[in-house]
Formats: sequence, C-alpha cells, structure tokens
Amino acid sequence: MDTKIWSELQDELRETVGENHFSNWIAPLQFSKIEDGVAFIVVPNNFMGNYVSQNYGDLLLYHLSKRNTEIQRIAFQAIAKSQLGKGTVETRSKSSNFSNVTTAQNGSVLEVPSAPLDERFTFENFVVGKPNELAHAAAKRVAEAGPVTFNPLFLYGGVGLGKTHLMHAIVWELQKKRKDLSVIYLSAEQFMYRFVQALRDRKMMDFKQLFRSFDVLMVDDVQFIAGKDSTQEEFFHTFNALVDQNKQIIISADQAPGEIKDLEDRIKSRLQCGLVVDLHPTTYELRLGILQSKVEQQRHHYPEIEIDQNVLEFLALRITTNVRVLEGALTRLFAFASLVTRPITLELAQDCLADILRSSERKVTVEEIQRKVAEHYHIRLSDMIGPRRVRTYARPRQVAMYLSKILTNRSLPEIGRRFGGRDHTTVMHGVKRIEDLQVTDGQVAEDVEMLRRSLQS
Ligand code: ADP
Ligand code: MG
Repeated sequence: MDTKIWSELQDELRETVGENHFSNWIAPLQFSKIEDGVAFIVVPNNFMGNYVSQNYGDLLLYHLSKRNTEIQRIAFQAIAKSQLGKGTVETRSKSSNFSNVTTAQNGSVLEVPSAPLDERFTFENFVVGKPNELAHAAAKRVAEAGPVTFNPLFLYGGVGLGKTHLMHAIVWELQKKRKDLSVIYLSAEQFMYRFVQALRDRKMMDFKQLFRSFDVLMVDDVQFIAGKDSTQEEFFHTFNALVDQNKQIIISADQAPGEIKDLEDRIKSRLQCGLVVDLHPTTYELRLGILQSKVEQQRHHYPEIEIDQNVLEFLALRITTNVRVLEGALTRLFAFASLVTRPITLELAQDCLADILRSSERKVTVEEIQRKVAEHYHIRLSDMIGPRRVRTYARPRQVAMYLSKILTNRSLPEIGRRFGGRDHTTVMHGVKRIEDLQVTDGQVAEDVEMLRRSLQS
C-alpha cells in the first residue's frame, strides 16, 4: 500500500470521525507495512495505541481491507521512547474479523482498559485546604513523572472527599506533559471485570502482558477487590511486576491499607510500602472554598443568577460530609433559580434543598459530646456530669454544654438533665461563658473548633 492510498484513506476517515477526533487520533498514525495479512501501523505511544485500537481499530481495519483484501488484522506499534535508541518497537495488536464490524467486541483480542475521565477533575479545579493538602501535593508530585520516589502512592479517605478527582487530575497532567508514557487508570472493579473476561476468553497471557506494559498504573477504589481472591492474586502479581520495573503505581481506597477488611496481608504490607496519605474530612473553610470555586463554574451556565454569600456559608455549615452532595446542592440551586428566575437567597435554598438538608442533619448526641469532651480534657465522664465545680471539671463541662446546644436539637432543660440534673439557667450560663471565651481565649476557641469538627465528621 503506497502513501497515496494511505492518505486517501485518512481523508475518508476524516469525514467519518470529524476534524477533532481526526487530528487527535488518526492524523498521528503512520502506515508501516503489510506482512502475513497484518497491517502494521505506528503510533506515538502505548496510550495512543490502546486508544486507537479500542476506538478506531475496526474502522481502520474496514477501510484497510477494503483496499487490500489481504489484510486480516492490524497491529499497532508504539515507539517506546526509552527504546528509541535501540530501534525496537513494541507491538500491541488488535485483530478483528472485519465481516464482524458491527459486533466489533467479539473479534477483538485486547480491550483498551483506561476508564473515561471526567474533564472537570483537573488540578486547576481542585481546591486545596488543610485537610487535603498532603494528598494534593503527593498527587502533584507523581504527576510530574520524575524519578519514582514512593511506590505506590496510596490515597485514602471517605466518600466524596476527592480521591477520584485527584486520580483523574494526575492522568490529565500526564497526558499533557508526558505523552510518551502509557498510563492506565481504572477502578478496581474494572480491573476485576477485565481479569474475569480474560480468564473466560483464555486471554490471560495477553492480560498479563498488557498490564505489565504500562508506565503508570492507577487503580481507584481498591477496597473493591477485598475478599475476591483470584482477582487479588492477579492484582498482587501485576503490582509486583510493575514495582520491580520501577513503574509508578497509584492506588485509592476508602480506608488505610491496614484497615481494609478481607484484603490479604501481603497486599496490605505492599500497599503500605510507599506513601500513604489520607484525605481528611473537609473543614468549614475548605467547603466554603469549594463552593466559591463551583459558583464560578456555575456562572458560565447561568450568568444572570445572583447568589447571596450567606447561602454559601449556610451550605458549608450544614452539608458537611460529602463534597459531592455539596456540589449537587449548588447545581440544583442554580437550576432551580434559573427556572423560577429568582436570585438564590437563603430562603430559596432552604426550600429547594429541604431533603438534602434533612438527610445531612447532624445526629450527634449529648452523650457522645460528653464522652468526646471528657476524653479531650483527660477527665472522667463521671466528673464531667458530677457535682464538683473546680475549674478542671467546670470548663470542660461548659464546653460540652455549649456543643450540645449548637450540635443537637435538645432544649436547655433537656441538656441540663443530661448533665446530672442541672438547671437550665446553669446550662445557659455555661453556653454564654464559652461563647465569650471563644472570642477572648484562643485556646478555648481552638478546643471548641477541634471538638466540633471531630464530632461532625
Ligand atoms: P471520592 O472519589 O473520594 O469519593 P470524588 O473525587 O468523586 O470523591 O469527589 C466528589 C466530588 O467532589 C467531585 O465532583 C469532585 O470534583 C468534588 N471535590 C472533592 N474535593 C474537591 C476539592 N478539594 N475541590 C474541588 N472539588 C472537589
Ligand atoms: Mg471515587
């Protein structure tokens, strides 16, 4: 096949896939040769090879074999940068029976595994605060793809705290700056799915080879494979093979490695070998920061809508556990306000978000507060509730009363009863005292804030 036919074919593909996709994916391809019914196509890197093979493999095969009936399948050759000097190429092939174009999956050897990325999940869109600054810094570091200094990077934290966001941000950054690296990002669930599929199709060799060929392996929500023995086993081998080759691995989970139940001990200990960082529960300041950044994004869609700053403060105060819920609330507010053409006020927010607000109502109990506060000040629970009025007990008691007032729906008399049957005026006095001290005494302010956070997380 000469270059003229190849460029003709490319023109035809341009029509089919559109200019954008064409210039991203098809234009960089080079035709190499035909050998034994295999058309060899050179791609700049593994990542592209994977992508093109998955998304355009059948289309290419169709067009190629239309012009040369000899062609049975396509092999993509990625020129690995590190190997350029030696003149070697890595071959990843995809074969597909072209009479089968419409049911392309049936004939394909290898699926390209990278999961789709959310385009909003970039470093630019990630708001950094105390609770996530370490995780952010570590993610930034691996995204530079310098020499591997910690392997794996293990990110963990509760639902909706930004693990997936950071993972995607790393991939985006790598794709931008290090096109030569082949990066795979997928959830542990997808890893298992591919593994099972490979077993079923008797393609385990391909599977192993494929997963050992990446420069960067990223597996999200690894807790998913806990208790799934053969998947764990395979993951363990893949993991070791890549670590041995000094390839970067990035893992996320909802808990620390040691805390994931039904995860094999040898995997736990390997996961702990690198850098383990957690995303802490958000603080009020971080939530407010995130909301402000999301408001900017919403403005692009709804330039006409105004939003009161106190609405953001209200949301940051009331929706505390999950950033996804916080974001969802804001999105809904904007959509609703635009529908009814009203500005977003506190009243509108309370109306429109009643369900969300109800479900994220704090469910802290007075007993919990007493326990936490006693622990914090190293006093016994019985002394907190008991009659003694020395400062060592009185101050923690007042802090606990104050927190009970602001974090529960209990009335002052109800709170008083739970503090050894004290009068409601005593509670009122305690609450007032702490309110004042928070302004004048930095230590009290800090204690209260810390306790409030830890009770609400
Ligand atoms: P996780 O994977 O930890 O459950 P995600 O990464 O899916 O959480 O985050 C949930 C949502 O919250 C996403 O839409 C994400 O963009 C957003 N989010 C979380 N943390 C931040 C942050 N620090 N800045 C901006 N958006 C954030
Ligand atoms: Mg996630």
